[in-house]
Amino acid sequence: MRLRNVTGAKEEVIESKYVIREPETKKGDWQSCFTKNQPIHIEIGMGKGQFITELALRNPDINYIGIEKYASVLVRALKKRENQDIPNLFYLCVDAKNLCEYFAEGEVDRIYLNFSDPWPKDRHSKRRLTAKEYFERYSKVISKTGIVAMKTDNEALFDFSLQQVAEAGWKLQKVTRNLHQSEFADGNIMTEYEEKFSSMGNPIYRLEAYR
Ligand code: SAM
Repeated sequence: MRLRNVTGAKEEVIESKYVIREPETKKGDWQSCFTKNQPIHIEIGMGKGQFITELALRNPDINYIGIEKYASVLVRALKKRENQDIPNLFYLCVDAKNLCEYFAEGEVDRIYLNFSDPWPKDRHSKRRLTAKEYFERYSKVISKTGIVAMKTDNEALFDFSLQQVAEAGWKLQKVTRNLHQSEFADGNIMTEYEEKFSSMGNPIYRLEAYR
């Protein structure tokens, strides 16, 4: 999802008190951004932020960081949280391939990957957020009991992800090929893409990976 030419988006993101600038300076010290010292969960590729905003509102005992590469998209999330007091939610406007520059070993307790870009061409497979190269990055920042939770409507990406989890030496749990009809449906928070694709009748695939 890339919204082009959103006038002033970069400036708005840079000026926002909710977007952490120079995140490498927070490495190992993320708790200082929040009012309470509690587990840190991140969403990579959060898009317009519907999922993480609702998650943060429902779980005040977790600190959330939403990561989005494009200012033109992140600016929509900033609009969404206007006039809402959510002290446990901040954002980063960065590329997740540099994740290890921003988080120290074991600093993150959970990583959400929702409807990540599928990068359908084989030669781009390392760009998929569930490629084993990404699991190597996740291994460096996630706590020993940490979990990566993924949702998608893309069966090929899901099958690829199942393989990559195994190749990376991680384990699987709570796997379903039809989330909304599964035992895991209760409490599920829909993302913007999830609403769109499930309304078209697409099943939603879900997995959790742990070390
Ligand atoms: N998660 C949202 C949802 O489910 O509605 C948005 C899904 S959209 C298909 C994928 C988002 O991930 C886009 O906004 C894209 O800019 C972002 N993204 C893709 N690769 C990224 C990366 N390496 N680092 C940060 N964000 C990324």
